[in-house]
Amino acid sequence: MDKYLVSARKYRPATFDSVVGQQALTTTLKNAIASGKLAHAYLFCGPRGVGKTTCARIFAKTINCLHPNEQGESCDQCESCIAFNEGRSYNIHELDAASNNSVEDIRQLIEQVQIPPQVGRYKVFIIDEVHMLSTAAFNAFLKTLEEPPAHAIFILATTEKHKILPTILSRCQIYDFNRMEVGDIVAHLKRVAEAEQVTYEEEALGVIARKADGGMRDALSIFDQVTSFADGNITYKKVIEDLNLLDDDYYFKITDQLLKPDIAGALLTLNEVLSNGFEAHNFISGLAAHFRNLLVAREPATLPLLEAVPSMRQRYQEQAQRCRPVFLYSALKRCNDCDLNYRVSRNKRLLVELTLIETAQATADDAPGCGPGPTKRLKPLFKTTEAAAQPRTTTTQTAAAAPKTAAPTPQPTAAPPTARPTAQTPAPAAPQPRPAGPAATRTAAPQRKTAHTLSIHLYQPAEEQPAAMQVAEDDVPESETPFDKNELYYQWYRFANSLPQEQSAMSARLKNMEPVLQENWHVETGVENQQVLQSAQALKNELLKYLRQQLRNGKITLEFRLLEASENKRAYSRQEQYAQMLQHSPALVRLAQALHLELS
Ligand SMILES: [Zn+2]
Repeated sequence: MDKYLVSARKYRPATFDSVVGQQALTTTLKNAIASGKLAHAYLFCGPRGVGKTTCARIFAKTINCLHPNEQGESCDQCESCIAFNEGRSYNIHELDAASNNSVEDIRQLIEQVQIPPQVGRYKVFIIDEVHMLSTAAFNAFLKTLEEPPAHAIFILATTEKHKILPTILSRCQIYDFNRMEVGDIVAHLKRVAEAEQVTYEEEALGVIARKADGGMRDALSIFDQVTSFADGNITYKKVIEDLNLLDDDYYFKITDQLLKPDIAGALLTLNEVLSNGFEAHNFISGLAAHFRNLLVAREPATLPLLEAVPSMRQRYQEQAQRCRPVFLYSALKRCNDCDLNYRVSRNKRLLVELTLIETAQATADDAPGCGPGPTKRLKPLFKTTEAAAQPRTTTTQTAAAAPKTAAPTPQPTAAPPTARPTAQTPAPAAPQPRPAGPAATRTAAPQRKTAHTLSIHLYQPAEEQPAAMQVAEDDVPESETPFDKNELYYQWYRFANSLPQEQSAMSARLKNMEPVLQENWHVETGVENQQVLQSAQALKNELLKYLRQQLRNGKITLEFRLLEASENKRAYSRQEQYAQMLQHSPALVRLAQALHLELS
């Protein structure tokens, strides 16, 4: 009788070309081998089961092959290749650092490194889960990594790149392995199924691929498990039964019910799900994932983000066409809120039911014209304020007083914007004649604009409208409305918050900065390093325009400069903040020691 091998081992790729889903990376490795440009140390990073160790083994075999072909693949026939294929080559050493992480283990490895290979040219040392090595072991290893003998090549593999010491990182060529896509996994599972003469439904393989979450090894072991459960005929029903997954049909059904809206039907569907033994929390996160899939299925541009086999893809697209984006946004938001509140909720079922009811309600409210979109809600507010605003100057800016330096704070916080009589001369602080420019087009009644915008930012601080909205409506003002540093901070923050998601790092940096208001409305901001300076400069014009508009002051100037080493530095990263907290709190130090706390 044949020895039973799990599919993950039986169908482990033996050449670079057969590695699934990592084409860019295997091509680079092949080219390196073909051109003979080998590094002494490689670091393979990526999630589990995506082919790091497999690629390391193929690499070791290929560089030792006596007759590699022109494409940089091994011949599979020479003495060395055969030894590799039979698992008896002395040129490959694997150390699993998860279980062998002591200095002693590394010493043994280092001894091996010194011995040159008998057959072939290189000895390859694969250290799996290298981040698990103890610090002492790391240090013992570092010396060898720095000056390895010519025949030694190290391949370090890790799932947690951020735990690798910089001293190691800087000595390795780094390869990042991707999570595999559902399509790639399904294609591979199909090949395995055909080789094993197992029949399958494509949706079933799709479920396995999604369950494996990007890891081929997991996908293959689930495949093995399901194959034996389903007795060689893998159907969708069998797979979700075996894996105890909720049938996607429920999500489609409940979405249809919410769209109608048929609240009673939705509650009954939920009841059916719960009585089948599924947990409400899983249901709600599954439903959120379903809404997300619908959202990306709506637009051809985002369709590639949908990880599903073609038949499911069609179903998503069909249902997505019946959902308005506003419904999907609000449904996603509600599911997400439910997910967050689930743990603390006392009546979890009620929470989920409420979420469904509210989602259905949102569809009902969505009649055209009263949708909850931010534009529609905020616009009237803006208009009302403008209509109500009386022509009003800020009280302080008379021609006699030295207006620029004293910068008195216009803080009429108690008075409503409209009912406020103008106390002093309504003399407009006439803007200096300026050379005509693009901004000079709207000189008419600048004070009027000043008044209403001032009232907007003083009286409506909480719920923000997107910054872009206001910016679009106004040009740069000619006026010179006084403001103080609090208002400056406030608008600075608003600008940072208005940056798109891709610029979240810059947004965080801006919030960390301390804009200093100097004479003549000059704003100066110190930044810590050249890199931040550059990215800040890139945003400078946009930020300056924003500040001028929001503060109704066209005289504002803005400058970023590098902080001197002596000036106070701020803690940005969590590590730096933690270090600072430790410095200031002996109690925290004791706590950290007692509990062996470490910031991961
Ligand atoms: Zn060979």
